[in-house]
Amino acid sequence: MPVFDALGGEYEEVVFFHDPPTGLKAIIAIHSTTLGPALGGTRFYPFASEEDALRDVLRLSRGMTYKAAAAGLDLGGGKAVIIGDPKRIKTEELLRAYGRFIDSLGGRYITAEDIGTARDDMDIIRRETRYVTGVAPEFGGSGDPSPVTAYGVYLGLIACAEEAWQEHSVSGRRVAVQGVGKVGYHLVKHLVENGATVVVSDVDVDAVARTVRDFGVETAEPEKIHAEECDIFAPCAMGGVIRDDTLPELKCRVVAGSANNQLGRPEHGEALAEMGILYAPDYVINAGGLINVADELQGYNPERAKSRVEGIYRNVREIFTIARERRMSTAAAADKFAEERIGKIGRVRLYWVPGGRGWAKIWGRA
Ligand code: NAD
Repeated sequence: MPVFDALGGEYEEVVFFHDPPTGLKAIIAIHSTTLGPALGGTRFYPFASEEDALRDVLRLSRGMTYKAAAAGLDLGGGKAVIIGDPKRIKTEELLRAYGRFIDSLGGRYITAEDIGTARDDMDIIRRETRYVTGVAPEFGGSGDPSPVTAYGVYLGLIACAEEAWQEHSVSGRRVAVQGVGKVGYHLVKHLVENGATVVVSDVDVDAVARTVRDFGVETAEPEKIHAEECDIFAPCAMGGVIRDDTLPELKCRVVAGSANNQLGRPEHGEALAEMGILYAPDYVINAGGLINVADELQGYNPERAKSRVEGIYRNVREIFTIARERRMSTAAAADKFAEERIGKIGRVRLYWVPGGRGWAKIWGRA
């Protein structure tokens, strides 16, 4: 595969690591370090081919650049993949070899957990490098990001309510939540506590039962939830929910939830706008988890992390303003918002200062 063509001139650095004795085959993609070191999780997955792994790591690392920039963080975008079935090949020595490889990048890439990796793995990686987040609390870790992500999504929904109905509240709104896992469950809690009527669905019957038991919400069939008559449809399960086949069935005024990559294709952002449906761009509204884990770099402080997550409300509002004023979809406005911040802050950092580019702040030494 012509690798440089795949990079499209957009990526700073892509590194391939191979440690045959442990079976480690890893790729780290650093899309951009304009705003700071590239932070993004490690996905450990049995990719069908090396091309698939490369394609995924490139796509995901680019997404992290936009997410960090829109969240107002001094971080760039990166991501890593380890090729293989974690259930079969994940060992202490493989993870430590991987930790040493991360260390060799000198802090340009900082890892975190993702599909196929968990906090315990981060603790092992930490034995070889300090460029790792999502570690255990006794090592300064921030714990499960999901409740924080849910809080950020809830604040984003209030920004949506202001834009759609000029009301600073979700009270009295009917919200359809797709997926009541780690994030969805906590989102339902915020919604119910704040006067919304909630209908949920999940393919996992136990997850539905727990949510009904705890909050007394209504339920819908998983394949029908997007077509529920409601004010807000909140995708909190898998990506690609807004597609050619689901778009005509939507009966909501707002689409806003935690799921990554909600739009099947970028054009679906325009389609939602044309239908008069307000879309809260996923990587802006679901940035709470990233903001929370990034706080570890300065010595995790839950209060500071929470107040930073509250910025999601302002960011979502700002994106709606850009979309209105420049007559573009909210999806396109989010990309502009991120790109303009990278451009502006990147330019400021061209000034030479003794001792570097202000990175000391990132590492809590300022
Ligand atoms: P999770 O696995 O805990 O929950 C997802 C839930 O969706 C599960 O209960 C699963 O059974 C359900 N589900 C799967 N397919 C479904 C379907 N077709 N219909 C209805 N339900 C279905 O994951 P999570 O951590 O809650 O994350 C949810 C989404 O938010 C994911 O897309 C994730 O990438 C994204 N996200 C999560 C975080 C975080 O902090 N956890 C941060 C940012 C983005």
